[in-house]
Amino acid sequence: MSQALLPTYARADLAFERGEGPYLYTADGRRFLDFAAGIAVNALGHSHPHLVDALTKQGAKLWHVSNLYQIPDGERLAERLVADSFADRVFFSNSGAEAMEGALKLARKYHHAKGHPERYRVIACNNAFHGRTMTTLSAAGNAKYLEGFGPEPEGFDHVAFGNMNELRAAITPETAAILVEPVQGEGGIRPASPEYLRALREVCDEFGLLLIFDEIQCGMGRTGKLFAHEWAGITPDVMALAKGIGGGFPLGAFLATEEAASGMKAGSHGSTYGGNPLAMAIGNAVLDVMLDEGFLKHVEAIGKLLKAKLEKLVAANPHVFEEVRGTGLILGLKAVPTNGELIAALRDRGLLTVGAAENVIRILPPLIIEEEQVDEALTALEQVCADWPKTALGGVA
Ligand SMILES: *Cc1c(COP(=O)(O)O)cnc(C)c1O
Repeated sequence: MSQALLPTYARADLAFERGEGPYLYTADGRRFLDFAAGIAVNALGHSHPHLVDALTKQGAKLWHVSNLYQIPDGERLAERLVADSFADRVFFSNSGAEAMEGALKLARKYHHAKGHPERYRVIACNNAFHGRTMTTLSAAGNAKYLEGFGPEPEGFDHVAFGNMNELRAAITPETAAILVEPVQGEGGIRPASPEYLRALREVCDEFGLLLIFDEIQCGMGRTGKLFAHEWAGITPDVMALAKGIGGGFPLGAFLATEEAASGMKAGSHGSTYGGNPLAMAIGNAVLDVMLDEGFLKHVEAIGKLLKAKLEKLVAANPHVFEEVRGTGLILGLKAVPTNGELIAALRDRGLLTVGAAENVIRILPPLIIEEEQVDEALTALEQVCADWPKTALGGVA
């Protein structure tokens, strides 16, 4: 690998030349089934004809003008997101971390505008991931990612994910908001229970706090609803989106109710690229597909099928896997040997997956997979399990 790149990634020795649907191809013609989907980004798979069409048509017309001018496709995308969510206002960014930063800024501004500048702290969860900027690292509080980057931005308190007693005890007169991933992704595919999400809504209402959901990974159809919190029958005040929203084009957004957004005025926030015409054309094209009749039902059904087959795989192979986690097409396999070894073995069998905390292998296929791809993935998983030595130490038979 080139020394010219900052060595911040431990990359696999593999490069792809093209993609088609759920498959990626190397220059020498090897085919891989992509159950990583660019880390939950390629929600519609690779080279989706509707997205390619949007990109090429818009690419030939206009890419970028800045937010000094009206961007009709951005207004349209915002209106469509508003129509299909709890939100009244949308801000477009280029990435997840930026969307989270904006959401956090909005929460502080809300209380400031209400005459409570002392309410600036945000309660977040252990094991969370919210991005790699200084503030989002601090929000997640993961010591591994913060190492050497101190002093960390101040204003975050951490509690155990799913624990309402700890959460209630952490609320102070300085608390502005609660920030939670409805399904923790990087943290190891840990879904919040619907009861927990409902209790968060109640506690936010009781104390006048903003409820912020980070749906950057679990949103945009991945659980079988457009947004993961819909399963709990409650709504947040603010939500960050990215990953699947652009189908592979860099795009993020944060959404808020009119009330939560009430502190944000002209000049309160900005982004040079955010919501540019090229991104907006593609964002609209992604939504065209996701909002199409039956799309989300398909995600739910194929997710159930995949999970049922993974449950059987795990039951038959306790020497390799401990459990299946997750919902829809945001699934995790908790590994017995190190997840990295298994991910490499699966890759050798033509199946791409992603690691996560707690020794989990993330299964994040494009949302367009069919039963054929489920079976293909299971074949690769079964082969790897069959080859795996049945000794306590895994690889050292
Ligand atoms: C990926 C992710 C982010 C950060 O998104 P970037 O686009 O990498 O900045 C934030 N929160 C969650 C839950 C994520 O999965």
